Amino acid sequence: MCKKCIGVDVGGTSVKLGLFETTGKLLFKWEIPTRKEDGGKYILEDVAVSIREVLRERLIHLEDVVGIGLGVPGPVMPDGSVEMCVNLGWKNVNPQQQLSSLLDGAFVKSGNDANVAALGEMWQGGGMGFSDIVMVTLGTGVGGGVIMDEKIISGKHGLAGEIGHIHIRDEETEPCNCGGVGCVEQVASATGIAREARRKMAASAEPSAMRQFGDDITAKDVLDAAKAGDKLALEVMDTVGHYLGLMMAQVAMTVDPQMFVIGGGVSKAGQFLVDVVKKHYDAFTPISTRKAVIGLAKLGNDAGIYGAARLVLG
Ligand SMILES: [Zn+2]
Repeated sequence: MCKKCIGVDVGGTSVKLGLFETTGKLLFKWEIPTRKEDGGKYILEDVAVSIREVLRERLIHLEDVVGIGLGVPGPVMPDGSVEMCVNLGWKNVNPQQQLSSLLDGAFVKSGNDANVAALGEMWQGGGMGFSDIVMVTLGTGVGGGVIMDEKIISGKHGLAGEIGHIHIRDEETEPCNCGGVGCVEQVASATGIAREARRKMAASAEPSAMRQFGDDITAKDVLDAAKAGDKLALEVMDTVGHYLGLMMAQVAMTVDPQMFVIGGGVSKAGQFLVDVVKKHYDAFTPISTRKAVIGLAKLGNDAGIYGAARLVLG
């Protein structure tokens, strides 16, 4: 029988699980609710029970599972311990150890969810075929993950891959969620793009399709207007592309990946977004004609289970 591996992506409202062949083929995926009460102490018990159930239904023995990977929403120390997971209520736990003992000592490996998603995209998603990628996730915030030689670079303080908080804009005055000012996240996240649009509309009298949305404008409204050729919306996206390109050029000169994989809700704008970013990225990297490919993520919300499963394959 072909060996299996399991990917578990622990989120604040639900836990996503996937049963894979070690070749990367997804056999079955499912979800269970995240029980956060009592400091989140039932979460891993629920995961273990659910895994046993699914294996039993499919007549798969735990011994035929190479390992279980675990993506958690917070910084994970090299020994798998988690100091604090605000979304889950976890404090000073080692989910890797706990899940292993709940599953008869099975091999369990954990990682930060954003880094794990990047690994998933490298394995079976937008970065397939590459060993060195940087994921740029443009959602409510901006996250990321750095994969070198098919391994997550997690750093020594849980900071590696926190590309959303690279400072790129000196003239920014509003604070970022991280406590800093002028972070990438403040201009390139979905909320950041909407804010930039409100600022541009307030600073100009130019007619624009964006004005019909007023202060309720969303990143999607901005992108739709920009794609339709709206001048002010194009200016907003040019600013977004400028700062994303600037950050990515700095990251390229630090780790020189083969590819940048852009994911998250904002990436639904597709090739239009890639083109806007690439224009600026190219301008900030005149140093070399051999440049990283910029492309789109492919796995959506499944990136986490793919990456978690890949974690246990070494
Ligand atoms: Zn920040």
